Amino acid sequence: MKSKVLLIYTGGTIGMMQDAKSGQLKPFDFKHLTEQIPELNKFDIDLSAVSFDKPIDSSDMQPAIWVELVKIIENNYNKVDGFVILHGSDTMSFTASALSFMLENLNKPVILTGSQLPIGTIRTDGKENLITAIEIAGAKVKDRPIISEVCIYFEYQLYRGNRTHKFNAEHFQAFQSANYPVLAEAGVYIKYHHSALRKPSVKKLKTYTKLNPNIAILKLFPGITSAAVNAILNIKNIKAVILETFGSGNASTEKWFIDAIQKAIDKGIIVFNVTQCNAGAVEQGKYSTSALLKNIGVISGGNITTEAAVTKLMFLLGNFNLIETEKQLQQDLRGEMTV
Ligand code: ASP
Repeated sequence: MKSKVLLIYTGGTIGMMQDAKSGQLKPFDFKHLTEQIPELNKFDIDLSAVSFDKPIDSSDMQPAIWVELVKIIENNYNKVDGFVILHGSDTMSFTASALSFMLENLNKPVILTGSQLPIGTIRTDGKENLITAIEIAGAKVKDRPIISEVCIYFEYQLYRGNRTHKFNAEHFQAFQSANYPVLAEAGVYIKYHHSALRKPSVKKLKTYTKLNPNIAILKLFPGITSAAVNAILNIKNIKAVILETFGSGNASTEKWFIDAIQKAIDKGIIVFNVTQCNAGAVEQGKYSTSALLKNIGVISGGNITTEAAVTKLMFLLGNFNLIETEKQLQQDLRGEMTV
């Protein structure tokens, strides 16, 4: 049976073309996708495409658009074998992380990809990214998809989406997954690292469309003032604060700082400790500078990325009460952290 893949175009550089007259980049009409990439005709995959009416630069990404994407996936879930989402690379890790939480019991691939150069340019990385992402989304063994999770495919590597971080603004290799191995590498063959893949769920897909954006990130630096810290902790309606700490989860031991965090926790605000480092994990209690945080009820984010922490909090706060949110924050829900 020929695989069926649905391509969803949200925007980003990949779908842009240079206007011959003005030289400006503008989105091309996805109805003419195969004119741009004739290679797609050679695929043994049944490809269909939907495009957002108004393609966006991914810096304009919003939770409401994640909901839109979830609905498109849900409505087409039984019609296709896999999905490819074309998306700007800037916030791709946030979208991949959000979708991973919003789509529970996934047993089909949802592959996000994009490019650093538009598809119409000679040295574009977009063609390879798109073609291989489609191949991965349609790949099956014994009529079952090989991948059953939300991934990012970029520059010959397939990553677990909620483990990624955009770390380079100009290299074709723009993403890294420092705390989790790559899921597959594309060379002459696509080599899947089966032991790293999420197992397909036997349960029915469950989608979540409620997200609570009342969260903030408090990134620490030596010299941060109490005014800055308190401004964030006292934002109206704030439900959770991601505390971006040093190294393995360390922060200042100054009394005013610990008191401010303690006061926030006493008010019912979740404080989630995520390291500023790209790799490694928060280990509260390893140093005395993090033991204090542990003692006052700061929750450790382990080796979660900031992108996954932001979207996990939005997802949990949107769907569960405070106690349940605190409990699930410490659990690995979609392969986003090593517990
Ligand atoms: N600014 C663009 C975006 O994220 C960059 C890209 O497409 O990679 O939409």
